[in-house]
Amino acid sequence: MTDDKKKILIIEDEPQIVLGLTDALTFEGFEVVSADAGKPGVELARRTKPDAILLDLMLPDENGFVVCEQLREFDRTVPIIMLTARSSEADKIRGLDSGADDYVTKPFGIGELIARMRAIFRRTERPIEIPESLQVGKADVSLTAHTVTRRGRTEPLSFYEVGLLRLLLERVGQPVARGEILKKIWGLEGAPTNRTVDNFIVKLRKKIERTPDKPEHILTVYGCGYKLVL
Ligand code: CA
Repeated sequence: MTDDKKKILIIEDEPQIVLGLTDALTFEGFEVVSADAGKPGVELARRTKPDAILLDLMLPDENGFVVCEQLREFDRTVPIIMLTARSSEADKIRGLDSGADDYVTKPFGIGELIARMRAIFRRTERPIEIPESLQVGKADVSLTAHTVTRRGRTEPLSFYEVGLLRLLLERVGQPVARGEILKKIWGLEGAPTNRTVDNFIVKLRKKIERTPDKPEHILTVYGCGYKLVL
């Protein structure tokens, strides 16, 4: 790691989880701050401007979905990973809709979480060799402002959505496998979370494609993954 340490905010009320995460992340060279409820967590995020946030879904004062929306009001791009005991698809979608980038279901392995953190920061540190903005069909995408504008309407793009677009753009016109997307964007290996990629593709298509059900630019390559066609 470089000497400017990445700061991670943990918003979680279970002391053992906070302790375990703090130890492991500190050992890995991250700076860690934590809050044991939603309100102080949002305040701490405002004050300390973390590089990533781990957010528990079940907090004593407010639920994580609400906290996530509050965080997104003043920071649209910080990666937010939700920590939760729930694992239903509906909860995942609600979490992603509230502005979270990713989901980790308890009990999770510390190693897995650290791999995800590393993947996040590898991506932000990668030198920029692709344009700051691009035209996808009728949509104007800004990879630096994290926005997409279509028909005069501007919507935010999440951290992972931008990462996904950049990866597809690097290999424009060629298929990129789901497994590679998972590994490069989420720092994960293996099949159980392939749905994560698919969920993000669905959201991206809604923001970018003229007819999301009949995509013209973010195409499915059957048996492989996805490709971007400009
Ligand atoms: Ca909790």
